[in-house]
Amino acid sequence: MARCSCGAPAPALEGWGEWHIVTDLDVPRIVDLLTGELDHAHCDAGCRLNVRASVVFQDSETGRLYLAPGDLVGPAELPAGIPEDMADRTETVAGLDALRDLVGELVNQRLRVFLPVITSPDGTDYLGEKWRLFTAPVIAALAVALSGRVPGIRFLIKEGVRTQAEIEGFFASRQAGIWISMLIDWTNGEGVGSFEEDLSEYVDRTPLIGDPLQFVDSLDELQRPADDELASMDAYRREAFRASLYAKLGQPNPHADRWALTWLWWEVRVRLAGAGGVAEVPELAVSVERLRDTVPPDSARFAGAELLNHTITANRDDSTGVPDIESVMTHVQAVFHETGFDEQLVSIYDGTRLHNPVEEIADLIVDALRIEDLDPAAAIITAKAMAQTLVEARRVDDLSRVVDAMRAIAPPVEVSLWW
Ligand SMILES: [Zn+2]
Repeated sequence: MARCSCGAPAPALEGWGEWHIVTDLDVPRIVDLLTGELDHAHCDAGCRLNVRASVVFQDSETGRLYLAPGDLVGPAELPAGIPEDMADRTETVAGLDALRDLVGELVNQRLRVFLPVITSPDGTDYLGEKWRLFTAPVIAALAVALSGRVPGIRFLIKEGVRTQAEIEGFFASRQAGIWISMLIDWTNGEGVGSFEEDLSEYVDRTPLIGDPLQFVDSLDELQRPADDELASMDAYRREAFRASLYAKLGQPNPHADRWALTWLWWEVRVRLAGAGGVAEVPELAVSVERLRDTVPPDSARFAGAELLNHTITANRDDSTGVPDIESVMTHVQAVFHETGFDEQLVSIYDGTRLHNPVEEIADLIVDALRIEDLDPAAAIITAKAMAQTLVEARRVDDLSRVVDAMRAIAPPVEVSLWW
């Protein structure tokens, strides 16, 4: 093991030395690269070593990689160091200064996207129409400029805006403008691709300017469509956006229950209509990963219980035009299973005891298990939860009928747990 003069291990002095990968979305690393912080490798104790590290810069817009080789990488060794599938996308530059020129120019180019917003009196209208130009890499370039740490990277400032806090406030409100324009486009039926794609680019991947939570409550003041159906989809997207923003910030979403309920209601509705789920509807599309990141387990449980209680009540009061309980249950089971909420599903049924007389329960469960296209794992979980009433009432004959029905869809059912 190579060691630094201070005695600490210095792996940067061995083999191909230290490597850094800087993506065009990683604002602090871009700043480090441009200010020379990455020029030297360091020992494990943090001493600066007199050897240059290799730096790879990744342009996520073009997919290209730019490599400035460090002191320990000879030209002949380069091709071997780059994975084959990346080789034809990788360009080697002379050194860190050349890489800095290239990245500095790219950042400046992306900053120019903001020019009309800053210089034109109709900047806000421009943003409303062209918000799609303000991609994650463009916002990252803005954040690099706003850091104030890189000499030579600046942008024109609107007259009257002077202090760093004012500048940041100005751009933070423009970023909010991008999000609002995104939501309005979808409301007006002018969405492109899917809502999930927009959330991914304009929220997940994008650096946040200032404190975006300052603007998040004003979402509730946006004009809503008069049509109930459209208004409900609009509310869904607003909550999905809000939840994604809180998830990105790593903070609890105070409206998580509202999001969970809105999502589950549409998720089940879309499936009742024959589609595979919201992911297949561009206007409502959110990924399973996003649901896992944005729906806390307790909120999932709350939403499931609300939806089932509502369905049961609606069926009891008037069953015309109301989806039947079994269909809703089947979809809730499938959705919870796919999203990783099996545990919450069980606890929903604990809290949602069927109101039927105990002698009818076994038939209800057996009927539910006979529904076609059930996900067996989810169905068994639900059936077990529903059967708790029978266990408590010690209805052994009923339970054995339920077990037979379970075995019919998933043979090795573990029944010993029950007695
Ligand atoms: Zn050292």
